[in-house]
Amino acid sequence: MFGSGVTLFRIFGFEIRLDPSFLLIAVLVGASLASGHFPAVHEGLPASTYWILGIFAVLGIFASIVLHELGHSLVARRFGMEMRGITLHMFGGAAELEDEPTSAGAELAVAAAGPATSFALAGLLKLAAMAAAGLSSTELPIEMLLRYLAGLNLVLAIFNLLPAFPLDGGRILRAVLWARGGDHDRATRLASRIGAGLGFGLAGLGVLQILGGRLGDGLWTVLIGFFIRSAALASGLDLAARRLLGDATVARFMTPDPVTVPVALSLAEFVEEVVYRTRHDTYPVTDGAGRPRGLVAVGSLSTVAREAWPSTSVMEVAEPIESGGTVAPDLPAKQALDLMRRSGRSRLLVVDGDGRLAGLLTLKDLLDTLTLRMRIEGEEM
Ligand SMILES: [Zn+2]
Repeated sequence: MFGSGVTLFRIFGFEIRLDPSFLLIAVLVGASLASGHFPAVHEGLPASTYWILGIFAVLGIFASIVLHELGHSLVARRFGMEMRGITLHMFGGAAELEDEPTSAGAELAVAAAGPATSFALAGLLKLAAMAAAGLSSTELPIEMLLRYLAGLNLVLAIFNLLPAFPLDGGRILRAVLWARGGDHDRATRLASRIGAGLGFGLAGLGVLQILGGRLGDGLWTVLIGFFIRSAALASGLDLAARRLLGDATVARFMTPDPVTVPVALSLAEFVEEVVYRTRHDTYPVTDGAGRPRGLVAVGSLSTVAREAWPSTSVMEVAEPIESGGTVAPDLPAKQALDLMRRSGRSRLLVVDGDGRLAGLLTLKDLLDTLTLRMRIEGEEM
């Protein structure tokens, strides 16, 4: 859901990324702390002090989320799982696992590590606030900040322990069900159903808050409820897709020998001789040896003035092939699906061992086949 974002830095080899939605929420939270919460807790300080506290609070929130996700990531690494990195977004953070945990024990340890880190941080910050209180007879501004961050970490730990997959609590629940029943898929299905239900319940609670006059809190609860619900449903779907794809390879789902266009073809010829005749929306561009060089989308034609079509080649408007943008025909289709999701691409070029184009794999082809198979097998998600 929040796969992209700007990379900020690396820590212990994990990439820390920021989704723009995090910045939006950070500004809102910082401003509401500086203008509402802090002045209410401790009156009479200069406005600039409240704003400085607001900025430090936002930095503290950022660090708290990163540390929570690092807790997951470091334990995952101990169990030999590859991590893609950590993305911060408006609802908190996500440590992205490259592989699914291989045992219930590993799942439990990885899931519990985040809330455990947050509980520990809450305790440390609480102790620091008490130490600050001992320094002076009147309350120091830093004490207020430390107490706020201690509370935040406590909320972070407890919220994440809700048994709603894919939240940590839902993962713990799945690990327990998995350990008891031994069936990973059934445990996931149950945990994501509970997650979807809980998300729905939370959204309902938000509606009650709104009706009770607490518009801001209520809207936020509704949003979080729907976020949990859609994340839970997506996890369930993802699992169903993985099971249905099984060990099938890319070759099974690709369109073999797609219509290609040569690099030097002009846009005018492309439209007249290729697009109107074959009516696809994307075409691989190949060189003389049949090696793919790019992917040209019919939609990109609108970026070039019609008068320039005879003198512009398709390669000039094509998206060039980057390394990693192609897959081999014998790659498991599951991995191709992961690659699409990670890169945000809905089309992958399939290239054989000689570097020649063998086919085109589209997300639509994959999903259509899956939908069909679900219908035939009466599969439920
Ligand atoms: Zn977590």
